[in-house]
Amino acid sequence: MSNTTPTTTPPSAKKPQITIIGSLNIDFVTATPRCPGPGETLTATSLTVSAGGKGGNQAVACGRSSFTSQTTQDVSVNMIGAVGAEDPYYTTLLQPALEKSGVDTKSIEQSTVAQTGSASIIVEEAIGGENRILVVPGANHAGLLSDVGNILAALERYPSTPDIVVLQGEIPRSTTLGLLEYFNGSVEDRAKVVFNPAPVFPEGIPLSALRGTAVLIMNETEVVQMARSIEGLPVGDVVEGDGLRPEELAPRFHERADVEIVLITLGAKGVYFSTKSGRSGLVAGVKVAKVVDTTAAGDTFVGYFATAVARFLATGQSIGAFDDGIEGAVSKANSAAAMCVQRRGAMQSIPFAYDME
Ligand code: ADP
Repeated sequence: MSNTTPTTTPPSAKKPQITIIGSLNIDFVTATPRCPGPGETLTATSLTVSAGGKGGNQAVACGRSSFTSQTTQDVSVNMIGAVGAEDPYYTTLLQPALEKSGVDTKSIEQSTVAQTGSASIIVEEAIGGENRILVVPGANHAGLLSDVGNILAALERYPSTPDIVVLQGEIPRSTTLGLLEYFNGSVEDRAKVVFNPAPVFPEGIPLSALRGTAVLIMNETEVVQMARSIEGLPVGDVVEGDGLRPEELAPRFHERADVEIVLITLGAKGVYFSTKSGRSGLVAGVKVAKVVDTTAAGDTFVGYFATAVARFLATGQSIGAFDDGIEGAVSKANSAAAMCVQRRGAMQSIPFAYDME
């Protein structure tokens, strides 16, 4: 773990700033030889309680990617989210994990109307560790996170405007649409959006909200669902073989929704990138000796890439000029995600940047 007292950047340079607006969960993972039947009680193998939620994971990834050394954090990272009031799991697990990763937690609401979101995960050992997951959104779907006005008010309490706002699909759809519309509007000095529509809302995302998104990051399932959504089709489920090739899918988001950068993560294969100006290609994944656990690999990728974009925007350049840096940023984010898959767990498996040198 790092020392979280960062040194300051030179006074002339604006310190890049990222705000993650998203979910925080406690994950209860029970490993069991097999699942109990109705009415049956079974002795399981183990219980692990850990900090999670896509918002929290991506905040940790942004924070850790900005520690260029154990004592230097070159990007300010803030999280806007919500947990149950005085939840001991928040104070003992989530908050320390965020803060030790350099994430400011002062805008995390302590909700009195809902409990901290949770995921109860049953890992069935007899069938190769297959997961069954029950999510209770709790505070992720109540109070602050159901109110765009309050979120924007929370943002205004920071001394400067963020360069990047990172959004996922685990807070209410209405909030997500409101935030996309606000930030993707044509007002120049607003933060740019890195949007990871995971999971894709069953009702999809209307073009009016998606239009003008700076960075859209999707995996192979999400890209098919989002492509349907921008055509006004039902999102539906995706079965293997449903997908068109990334080079056919990505341009649709530029043409139809004016998205600046489209990234499609392809697991071990790496990432396909495409920019509005016509640059595209595959950045191959990093080969690893043994995949231990892919949880949070996508979140690690999102956080590392978002940090690279924030650093660039803080120099005063526009997102359209990021083309030259995109392959380097994808490559670094691939390396971080490859480190993540070699470690067990979610947040704890996300590497610090100084660990990757
Ligand atoms: P998600 O977990 O969101 O479905 P992916 O499976 O596409 O996302 O993984 C996200 C990123 O994590 C990939 O683009 C790649 O950089 C990295 N990654 C995932 N699986 C592997 C693997 N087996 N080996 C190396 N890198 C991987």
